[in-house]
Amino acid sequence: MSMGIKDDAALRQVLVENVADTVEWLRGIGVNFLAPLPQPPHRVERLHQVMPTSRAYVVRLHKHLRQLGVDIRVATPVRQLILEDGLMAGVEARGAAGPVIVRSRAGVILASGDIGGDTALMHAYLKTWTDGVEVYNPANTGDGHKMALAIGAAIVPRKDLGFEAAAHVRFVRPKPGLLQKLPPWPAFTCTMVWAMKYAPKAVVRPIMMRFLTTVLGPDAGMFKEGAILVNKRGERIGRGNEAPNILIPQQPEGIAYIVFDQKFAQKFSNWPNFISTAPGVAFAYLQDYRSARPDLFNVGPTIAELAHVAGFDADKLAAAIDDANQDRDDKMKLSAGPFYALGPVKTWVLVAPVGLAVNTKFEVLSTEGKVIPGLYAVGHTGMAGFTMTGHGHGLGWAFTSGRLAAGHAVARSRKRIRDPAIESVG
Ligand SMILES: Cc1cc2nc3c(=O)[nH]c(=O)nc-3n(C[C@H](O)[C@H](O)[C@H](O)COP(=O)(O)OP(=O)(O)OC[C@H]3O[C@@H](n4cnc5c(N)ncnc54)[C@H](O)[C@@H]3O)c2cc1C
Repeated sequence: MSMGIKDDAALRQVLVENVADTVEWLRGIGVNFLAPLPQPPHRVERLHQVMPTSRAYVVRLHKHLRQLGVDIRVATPVRQLILEDGLMAGVEARGAAGPVIVRSRAGVILASGDIGGDTALMHAYLKTWTDGVEVYNPANTGDGHKMALAIGAAIVPRKDLGFEAAAHVRFVRPKPGLLQKLPPWPAFTCTMVWAMKYAPKAVVRPIMMRFLTTVLGPDAGMFKEGAILVNKRGERIGRGNEAPNILIPQQPEGIAYIVFDQKFAQKFSNWPNFISTAPGVAFAYLQDYRSARPDLFNVGPTIAELAHVAGFDADKLAAAIDDANQDRDDKMKLSAGPFYALGPVKTWVLVAPVGLAVNTKFEVLSTEGKVIPGLYAVGHTGMAGFTMTGHGHGLGWAFTSGRLAAGHAVARSRKRIRDPAIESVG
């Protein structure tokens, strides 16, 4: 049990014991990190910021695989597992020119991500689900889950988790700028890491903020401290303890803005009050958003002028602020200009936390709890009741489980070559 969420302790242990080797393996293929960086409230500096952006993973892995002679097929979705004589013999995919058969001696590793793109699976395996909420990876339609289900695999449902837990409020992503297009050449990224480490913080901070291509989540503390949510018309959303992630999808265009006044702005300019966590700088404050994300930053000396800048109806925004001030004491009232609106924010399902049942070798388990020989599942497809709640857990798990599963698959196939009768799908 962690943070009140049921968790698979054995899989968590596998991650903890192997993720550091994964980081070294990634370094070995030319992925550079600015690390370790502080990430309060963790005691130990732990955050690894990939340089220059997460595109480095794709570029460096692609290069590594090509050097190994791996045949990479894009736009060729896998549709079916091939079983021969009870053994996993490969997959059938659909290419532009028709079916593609890929045969395999060492087994099949399913790595098709999560189930967020498949509404039926979301309803079946989460406690609650709300149709129409945007998912970040709609191409992740749980194909690996479905192919494995078809041959008797088990899924670990998350009936302890519902829509509320799976959906997150995030600022909309920035348009990619020049910095996001920088090439991840190792010599270049090593120089960047060196400069970031030794340059004065005042210089580094604004640069790091500009690298934030990821979607950042506003901290819940903003609402506790008095910020309010309004929709694109300026109407107030939510009055009590309703979670914003549930309310926002019901608004026009599914977007909202976080509105506050100057007193609040001053408070959220320093620790312990931050707007969001942010890779590389740990916590981002209002001034970071002003300089690095002007697309999200709206300010006006009066409520009417803020409404004009952000495109709200001025009367509706005034009514929203008035309504919020009704039940507040003077200290908490939104009354001191300038007034601010950060947004748009949206609710997204970044990843849906439902995976196939796997053991600690990432072998997929049947509904009877038996290993399906030669079938492995990694990343979110092999999540198996393991909850990734911390920064870096998702990628740490994807790379670690993939790396280890490949080793297990090769070891198993060598054993089988020595004794072909050892196993078959039961
Ligand atoms: C906005 C956002 C920000 C994030 N930030 C972080 C972060 O800062 N740190 C972190 O650790 N994690 C982060 N994560 C989570 C992280 O991205 C995931 O945990 C990780 O990518 C999961 O890897 P995966 O291989 O399981 O799935 P994915 O990366 O989703 O890859 C699955 C792939 O399989 C493909 N696929 C699906 N079906 C088929 C099929 N039938 N045939 C062939 N291919 C198929 C999909 O198209 C996709 O390319 C973030 C996620 C999001 C959405």
